[in-house]
Amino acid sequence: MSESDQSPQGDDSSQEWPTHCDHCGTELQSAVVDVVPDADSEHLQTGSPGTVIRQDFCPNPDCPGRVSA
Ligand SMILES: [Zn+2]
Repeated sequence: MSESDQSPQGDDSSQEWPTHCDHCGTELQSAVVDVVPDADSEHLQTGSPGTVIRQDFCPNPDCPGRVSA
């Protein structure tokens, strides 16, 4: 048995997550934008802060797709 002989097949297209900016090609960075506390009290007992919402953003200040607020 060789555990290092893992060759995933047909599972790489099930979930596609962009890792680079679609506009300028810069590698995206992930930042926590918000944390939503779980309403279920059972989650509080486990010490879970809630659902962490993370959002990918392009760190390139000159990105053409950058949303200026
Ligand atoms: Zn960009």
